Amino acid sequence: MIIIVKDKATEKQVNELMEWLSGFNVRTNLVTGVHSRIIGLIGDTTSIDVDSVKAREAVEAVKRVQEPYKNANRRFHPDDTVIEVGGKRIGGGSLAVIAGPCSVETEDRLMQTAIAVKEAGADFLRGGAFKPRTSPYAFQGLGREGIELLIQARKETGLPIVTEIMDLSDLDLFADVDIVQVGARNMQNFTLLKALGRCDKPVLLKRGLSATLQELLMSAEYIMSEGNSKVILCERGIRTYEPETRNTLDISAVPLLRQKTHLPIVIDPSHATGLSSLVEPMSLAAVTAGADALEIEVHIDPKSAWSDGAQSLTPEQFRASMKKIRALESFVRNEL
Ligand code: PEP
Ligand code: MN
Repeated sequence: MIIIVKDKATEKQVNELMEWLSGFNVRTNLVTGVHSRIIGLIGDTTSIDVDSVKAREAVEAVKRVQEPYKNANRRFHPDDTVIEVGGKRIGGGSLAVIAGPCSVETEDRLMQTAIAVKEAGADFLRGGAFKPRTSPYAFQGLGREGIELLIQARKETGLPIVTEIMDLSDLDLFADVDIVQVGARNMQNFTLLKALGRCDKPVLLKRGLSATLQELLMSAEYIMSEGNSKVILCERGIRTYEPETRNTLDISAVPLLRQKTHLPIVIDPSHATGLSSLVEPMSLAAVTAGADALEIEVHIDPKSAWSDGAQSLTPEQFRASMKKIRALESFVRNEL
């Protein structure tokens, strides 16, 4: 962190500032030039709030030279994090595919979809039991019963399950869930993130609708700083001015996050586009960009789905896409 001192700041004010900064366990280095004075901070500055530095009398401007996240930072953890769950791996070079319906609807529909995605080569089963819907009148999910059905589907297929938590008070219901998803709308629910940080369960953290990558990484940091290092980041499209797609998929997030963090990166082409016809091309783009996993919505009969039918693939479409995804995966892995 570099601090530019105000021209008119007195020596006493500067000394007070340096003393205050030393309280954060960093070394301070005052450089006095002809026209300006600068303080360089050496050490771990993650716990120093830039705004509270700016609020000090003697400070003209502050610049961070290091990222404010530490646990998620590749600088301090050069090797990729690989998350092993239910006999499957996410991260470290292979491509995991998470597939299933937007919402858990009925036992019959979930079982049929679970068997179909398993046969097509999916590694994990997804399905929402608690649904964050824009309208309070839309289907809100089956709740506890939905989780029970997912567990039953896991028994049937052997696929580990991924499902979203919306409220901390439901945490006990997730005890037997393999990966807990935090949805885009909850990316900055810091109470929820901290509580998940105290669990020993992988968390699939989705990027908020208008969140920057740094904000996503800071949310991961909330989980990790409480002790849980099993965080999987998910780019699921961000809101832009383009109305043709539900969101705009930020594919550059994959290589950029790869540079900044060691955490695995998932692309969700379904929520990113809102259109089933774009799911396959965006999945292939994600594989090419180096994603560690894909999360794809598949429904046994999309036109009668209780949520997100327009972006859901039929089992046949999913099977056809999986062939291309797996072929591209091995090409990318062997040739690039
Ligand atoms: C979901 O995956 O079911 C979901 C609601 O996604 P998002 O939080 O990305 O909108
Ligand atoms: Mn959905």
